[in-house]
Amino acid sequence: MSTVAAYAAPAAKAPLERTTIERRPVGESDILIDIKFAGICHSDIHQAREGWGEAIFPMVPGHEIAGVVTEVGAGVTKYTVGDRVGVGCFVDSCRECEYCRQGLEQYCAKGNTATYNALDKNGEPTYGGYSTHVVVDENYAVRIPDSLSLDVAAPLLCAGITTYSPLRHWNAGPGKKVAVLGMGGLGHMGVKIAHAMGAEVTVLSQSLRKREDGLKLGADHYYATSDPKTFEELAGTFDIILSTVSAPLDFAAYLSLLKTDGALVNVGAPEEPVSLNLFALLGGRKTLAGSMIGGIAETQEMLDFCAEHGFGAEIELIRADQINEAYERVLASDVRYRFVIDTATI
Ligand SMILES: [Zn+2]
Ligand SMILES: [Zn+2]
Repeated sequence: MSTVAAYAAPAAKAPLERTTIERRPVGESDILIDIKFAGICHSDIHQAREGWGEAIFPMVPGHEIAGVVTEVGAGVTKYTVGDRVGVGCFVDSCRECEYCRQGLEQYCAKGNTATYNALDKNGEPTYGGYSTHVVVDENYAVRIPDSLSLDVAAPLLCAGITTYSPLRHWNAGPGKKVAVLGMGGLGHMGVKIAHAMGAEVTVLSQSLRKREDGLKLGADHYYATSDPKTFEELAGTFDIILSTVSAPLDFAAYLSLLKTDGALVNVGAPEEPVSLNLFALLGGRKTLAGSMIGGIAETQEMLDFCAEHGFGAEIELIRADQINEAYERVLASDVRYRFVIDTATI
């Protein structure tokens, strides 16, 4: 065991504070990562405040981790000391079910082990990236290409893969019209990735406040959803709508913007159930779908894709003692577009 510094929420809704945690010894197939940067994901806040139900405290959030390998277990074959690596939303899975065998560990039939706010195979709580070091099985880490800076790479481990995976699955590419609903941490990555895939990209945002950014990041069009004319003008337009919004939506209105055989894919989810008249799906054989992060191999593919196209996330780098303030700003949608903690300040 080693004692390392971390920022933790001692209880639900309590401010995060500096503390120390124990990391397990480096096992046979483990790597020890010196964490350099950790992104702040909206789901960190949901969990630290028990918005998604009972959680484990103290909680060290953080599942957008970028760092450097400083020690490897005797059986490690993929990484050596000095390698630049990332860790995303989960750190283990059963490795045997049909989904794990297909590289869909995020949908492991037995449930994967979340990077924090979970219990590992030994019943020990997992602690996330708001920390100086983490020990992870080499099979649940990914390589960060040299051309990507670690700070802008960190948010790719959740925001990047969460948008990349559904865009791939629903075949975003040349000749396809993709709408990205919401222009926040997830949405801005959706715009960059869909554009890089060759799709024609439209941002649907509440207002036109971030229009200039959206166009700069690769959007071809930008519409305000607060304007009823948007829904008239764009009726029947899109092959894919990627919704990154976690507030309740008028799903029927958004489904009306799809072409026949189009899909409205949710990567955000409102806390409350929604109701929908299913006639909105029948006409046009439409799909209302969801998608959750991505597997390890696909996360590697996404990092390589971003490196090849020369982009990471748009970030605001903060010190660890600014985490609580950053949480408030995320809740107020006042971030362009991802806060990243410089873990040297922990
Ligand atoms: Zn996340
Ligand atoms: Zn599995």
